[in-house]
Amino acid sequence: MVEEIAHDVYRIPVPLPDSILGSVNAYAIKGRGRHLIVDPGMDLDPCLQAMDEGLRRIGVDAAKSDFFITHSHPDHFPLVARLIGEGSVIYIDRREAEVLERLRSGAMFANLREFARFTGFPDTDLTEILPPEVTRRSPVERVWPFRFVKDADQLTVGDHRFRCVSTPGHSLGHTCLHEPSSRLFFAGDHLLSDITPGIQARRDMGNPLVDYLEALDRIYPLDVRVVLPGHRDPFTRFRERIDELKEHHRERAAEIMSELKDGGKGIYEVASRITWSVVDADSWDSAPDLQKLMATGETFAHLKYLEASGAVRREMRDDRIIFSLA
Ligand SMILES: [Zn+2]
Repeated sequence: MVEEIAHDVYRIPVPLPDSILGSVNAYAIKGRGRHLIVDPGMDLDPCLQAMDEGLRRIGVDAAKSDFFITHSHPDHFPLVARLIGEGSVIYIDRREAEVLERLRSGAMFANLREFARFTGFPDTDLTEILPPEVTRRSPVERVWPFRFVKDADQLTVGDHRFRCVSTPGHSLGHTCLHEPSSRLFFAGDHLLSDITPGIQARRDMGNPLVDYLEALDRIYPLDVRVVLPGHRDPFTRFRERIDELKEHHRERAAEIMSELKDGGKGIYEVASRITWSVVDADSWDSAPDLQKLMATGETFAHLKYLEASGAVRREMRDDRIIFSLA
């Protein structure tokens, strides 16, 4: 059901079959002649149907629209391929375009194999648990009409003027949109109302949780009336939600520290001992392998954060990383 959020700004829920999230929020901003669509969704027939239906109701022609992608995750980006028209531009951070290329070339899958090794993930055939778009390299190099955006870039659509806000953490080049005059904030997966955005480290490069917490601090002063998240309902508790998310990560970090009190441990081992609300099973052992893989990525992000703060240190044991209290 399409919802009018503000003058010329609409929310179109797009279903996500087989996902606990239920749907992804696409947003459409009606302009004069050209429109802007934010995060269209998955490349599946029911998603295309929902978008077509929603856009028809508000009188927006996808072929005469440009696209803003908060991040390249498979539930936000791929439907763009079936919507763009000639002359459509896709606004995206360069680092997200690089993620798509690493996915296409198979580099991402190679990284995940390495990740399984150094985290001590049990010997599992990753091709069995990961979706085929991750495990199969695609020989087709698609030329996307990307226009790279960076922090503080402006986008004008009809009467609206948006400012790009770089918010890395949930993904490498995650970017939000803020409009100071309407006080709308298109949050992607940087802020969600009742679930915690996943922050995973799947490579031993950079520090996603440090980036994420810094990005939360950076948006805190913004004047925001309504947050338009990538999933679930729009909400108004902008600063309260930021405070809650920071508190959540402080608690997680403390829990992980306490797991290291009786000695150094590998990343997978730590993940298997802490409590998970995202792991959809009675016990760790009975949880699906894909959820365990994601939980291990979250744990590694926290351990890297703790390492950067000087609270834990690492050593290599065979080809596994072992963390212990500093
Ligand atoms: Zn995401």
